[in-house]
Amino acid sequence: MHYSLSWSGGKDSTASIILAHEHQEPLDSIIFVEVMYDLKNGISGENPNHIKFIREKAKPLFESWGYRVEILRATRDFLDFFSRVIEKPRKHMDHKGKKFGFPTYGRCGVKRDLKLKPMDDFYKTIDDEIIQYVGICADERRRLDSLHKQNNRISLLEKYNITEKMAKEKCEEYELLSPVYSYSKRGGCWFCPNAKLAEHREIKRIFPDVWEQFIGLENVPNVANNKFNVFGKSLYEINRELESEEVKLCRN
Ligand code: SF4
Repeated sequence: MHYSLSWSGGKDSTASIILAHEHQEPLDSIIFVEVMYDLKNGISGENPNHIKFIREKAKPLFESWGYRVEILRATRDFLDFFSRVIEKPRKHMDHKGKKFGFPTYGRCGVKRDLKLKPMDDFYKTIDDEIIQYVGICADERRRLDSLHKQNNRISLLEKYNITEKMAKEKCEEYELLSPVYSYSKRGGCWFCPNAKLAEHREIKRIFPDVWEQFIGLENVPNVANNKFNVFGKSLYEINRELESEEVKLCRN
C-alpha cells in the first residue's frame, strides 16, 4: 500500500497532514500540484503569498517530520491553455480554429490538464496500490456520502471527528494556516473565474506587469471564451475598481 495525500495548502488538507503526524498514520507521499501561469518566466498561478507559504514554511516542516513532499508542475501553463487552438467543432457552437481562452465555470480544463494530469502521472510511477487521504471534514456530510462510495479514498478528518472549524484551529495551533485566509475564503489559481477582488488586488500589487498582461487577454482576437467571467465583471471593470481604490487611498 502507498498512502498519499493530495495537498492544496488549504486548511483541510493541511490539517489532515497534521493528524497523520499526531496519530502516526501511514503517509508515504504528500503531493502539491503547482499550476503555473507562465512557466517560461516562472510565474505561478498560485497566489504568491500561498506558494511562498507552501515552499518556505509548510514543506520544510513536513519534511522535518519525515514526509516525502513533492511539488509537481504540468509541462504546460495557463498561457498555453488560453492559446490552444480548438480543433474540433463543439456541441451547439463552432469554435473550430479559435483559441480556447479563459477557463469555463463548472468544467475547468485547467484543473484537468494542469492539476490532475501531473498527479495522475506521478501515481503511475508508484508500483503499489494507492490509498488517497482527502481533506473532507466530519461536518461535510454530503461530500462524505459521496466519498464513502469510492474505493481507496479516506478522510482522516472524518476518522478523528474534525469539523471545518476544528481543522482551521488545528492549522493555527501549528502556525500552518495559509496567509491567503487573511483576505480570502478560497485558495486556487488567481486567474480562476471564481477569484475574488481581494485576490486580484494582491496580484496587481505584487505582479503589476503580469496583471497588465492578464487583463490584456480579453482583447486577444479570435478567442472562443473571450470573457474572463461570463456571469460577472470583465477584467477591465475589475481593474477600474482597483484603480479607483488606489486613487482614494492616495487622497486619504
Ligand atoms: S482554481 Fe479555478 S482555474 Fe484553477 S483549477 Fe480550480 S477551477 Fe480551475
